[in-house]
Amino acid sequence: APGAQQFIPPQADTLDALRAAAAGCRGCELYRDASQTVFGRGDESARVVLVGEQPGDMEDQKGLPFVGPAGRLLRRAVDDAGLDPGHIYLTNAVKHFRFELRGKRRIHQTPDRVHITACRPWLVAEFSRLRPDLVVVLGATAAKALLGPTFRVTRQRGELLPWPAAAQRPEDFARVPVDSAGKVADAPAAQLLATIHPSAVLRADDQDAAYAGLVQDLTVGARALA
Ligand code: SF4
Repeated sequence: APGAQQFIPPQADTLDALRAAAAGCRGCELYRDASQTVFGRGDESARVVLVGEQPGDMEDQKGLPFVGPAGRLLRRAVDDAGLDPGHIYLTNAVKHFRFELRGKRRIHQTPDRVHITACRPWLVAEFSRLRPDLVVVLGATAAKALLGPTFRVTRQRGELLPWPAAAQRPEDFARVPVDSAGKVADAPAAQLLATIHPSAVLRADDQDAAYAGLVQDLTVGARALA
């Protein structure tokens, strides 16, 4: 798969320009069956960016991330953690809905490593425009996109982490200046925090405990920004 990088225009210096370009992305095969690209949305001067896995069925139809039940739960948890849900930016590691058809139902399928890697340039381009102070990865797919395949959310959730070197690979940054040592000169000085995806709360046997855990992790981020 060619990946998303070639679809990112060098002159796209705003999120709107990126969003428009992402609508035509053919960086992996997921565009073929999904309805549309679901790009990030929210406050463009947000200090906090939350990264989920991929759009769900409803998000795919509406073209907006986190519009379903998981999105509502996430905004409530953000609020309960002491962050302002009006001042966050929400996006996904993979920008097209991956599913399997069963009869007429479209059943969510976890994206593969190849999709995560293909789509990562969009995520990194969003970071380079947003320059957040805190990036929260929600669940294993988003964690893999930024922290690599060996990261375990269950073991390291709720811990403030430095911005990972793996997310700074120059080829990931769309036309972001690279210094003479090959390091990304303009990498976000963000901290990273991993927690569970809000849809995992909805699936949990004990939803109250799972929700409390999500809020507790987000509170660590809220304190770091205070
Ligand atoms: Fe492009 Fe990402 Fe969609 Fe694949 S999932 S076609 S890389 S936007």
